[in-house]
Amino acid sequence: MRTGTLGVHLSGLLPIIRKYLYTHTDVFLRELIANGVDACQKLITIAPSEGITLASDEVKVEIFCYPTKRQLIIQDNGIGMTEEEVEKFLTVIAASSAKEFAEKYKETDIIGFFGMGFYSAFMVAEKVEVLTQSYKSGVQAVRWLSDGSETYTIEPAQRPQGRGTTITLHLSKEYEEYAQTWKVRQITEKYARFLPIPILVEGSPINQKPLWREQPLQVSEEVYKKFYKLLFPDDPEPVFYIHLNADYPVHLQGILYFPPLRPEVVTRPGTLSLYVRGMFITDELEGLIPEYFRLLHGVIESSDIPLNVSRSQLQVDPNLRKISQYIVRKVTEKLKEIYSSDRKRYESLWEHIGPFVKYGMVRDEDFARKARDLALVETTTGECLTLPEYEARISTVKNPRGFSVGFYLNDPAQHQVLAKLFEAKGYPIIKADTLIDPYWLSYIEREGKIRFARVDSEEAAKWLESNEKDSGFTLEEEKTIKEALERLTQLRVEKQLMGAEGPAALLLRDESQRRYQETLYQSGKNPPSRLVFNPQHPIYRRYLLTQDVRWLEHAIDWARLLSGDLTEETLQNFLRRDQQLLLER
Ligand code: ADP
Repeated sequence: MRTGTLGVHLSGLLPIIRKYLYTHTDVFLRELIANGVDACQKLITIAPSEGITLASDEVKVEIFCYPTKRQLIIQDNGIGMTEEEVEKFLTVIAASSAKEFAEKYKETDIIGFFGMGFYSAFMVAEKVEVLTQSYKSGVQAVRWLSDGSETYTIEPAQRPQGRGTTITLHLSKEYEEYAQTWKVRQITEKYARFLPIPILVEGSPINQKPLWREQPLQVSEEVYKKFYKLLFPDDPEPVFYIHLNADYPVHLQGILYFPPLRPEVVTRPGTLSLYVRGMFITDELEGLIPEYFRLLHGVIESSDIPLNVSRSQLQVDPNLRKISQYIVRKVTEKLKEIYSSDRKRYESLWEHIGPFVKYGMVRDEDFARKARDLALVETTTGECLTLPEYEARISTVKNPRGFSVGFYLNDPAQHQVLAKLFEAKGYPIIKADTLIDPYWLSYIEREGKIRFARVDSEEAAKWLESNEKDSGFTLEEEKTIKEALERLTQLRVEKQLMGAEGPAALLLRDESQRRYQETLYQSGKNPPSRLVFNPQHPIYRRYLLTQDVRWLEHAIDWARLLSGDLTEETLQNFLRRDQQLLLER
């Protein structure tokens, strides 16, 4: 048996790191800033034991842009490196001092980890120059130069600023944009503005306080809103927020903002950003928050989230599930709190939080159990009822199979006349006009207590029946009316007694087919399945007396009007005919 050493051909490895490790070239800046910040943190940590006095805000990371020279400089006055350290850490891939340092000094704020970040500079630079001087006294500064190939040069040098590291990137033509101040500022703000060490782009600091680390009780609503404006300057004010602060089962802090959900406001998904040790990681939080909270805005920070080597992606890990569950629990607790302490406010927020809650209930049974009694239904008369309250209201409306029947509409303008008929009989009508509603109603039906019927459905129409069972016509007369209506509409026609006040006729739709189409966003487009006429309405007596078919046409147009099916042209005809019939009487 022979033991061998694996050989790695750097010439083969470097292009892989450069091209495939990182998805966005922008992250080279994140990595170099992180190194600078780590160098400063390390200096702060060792300063007391090394007898170094540091003025407040003395250590910093500065970035300078030289577009004409195609150069970008990132410099810090942190711990610096000796020649040996340069050889050890910069010339050996996957060598990092971070872990060792963190263990030795119990320092938890070090960002570095994998010992790969520095090489990301070669994604955008054709040459990288490092001028560094260690904090150790009497140590010569060194200049290290590499074009990303296997060879590099290292030589003694002078660093006029003394302790610290200056990294000069000689950008390749393709990436000269990274020498533009606006671009560099934009990337730095995105990744680094919540880092604990001052970071200056062309002399101006970009740091902001990470509000999520404050104690929730000490932060006013105004401050939360100001912070939201800072994160999302172009977005409308949030309707409310939740401050997350957990030590168990995972370390997690953050602020979740609920954006206003109105049809006229465009809500951008994916604006929940993940930070680890103050560094922006990603806003693609697959697995970290349930998808039904994807429209939430805000920030989350956790050191318990394992990152992959490129640091821009999450690893699949049991902690993700714990975090996700924690967030869901927090959101429900907060909703419960508002609901029990201020029902009016809860009702006013419902328009915006309702879609999240309903979507969550449909997608996640666990969430549904927690949120069920927090869900509200809004009625056409402006009431907001919880599901238990609503169930109590419709408990007497039972179909032959013992289910309670709930009426709803999904197009308030189209169904308003019809809704009035149900309201007059004392039935509450649910306004179910958001995209999630058809799914949500079906979900509630699956619980096995309620059946929902749209106000223009066959099921619903039965509830408009009158107690007066005499139509006032002979069977023969009813047959004549029925057949005439069938000829005119080409639909199946049936009679239903709805009292003299009820509509002359109604176009009805099949409930199950209709719900299916609603989920395809084709609301209202399914054709009527039949027409019911109410012989107790005086219009039919006029027809039989005069034999004038316009009375029946009028009844049919009424039915269309009630179900919102009236086109501009039939509406004109209807009005003209109405006028004529009136004048001729
Ligand atoms: P990581 O930051 O994950 O450790 P890097 O490849 O970015 O990996 O850096 C490797 C090592 O080089 C670091 O652990 C650190 O010891 C050293 N280093 C890099 N940049 C600096 C700097 N600006 N100042 C001091 N040391 C640095």
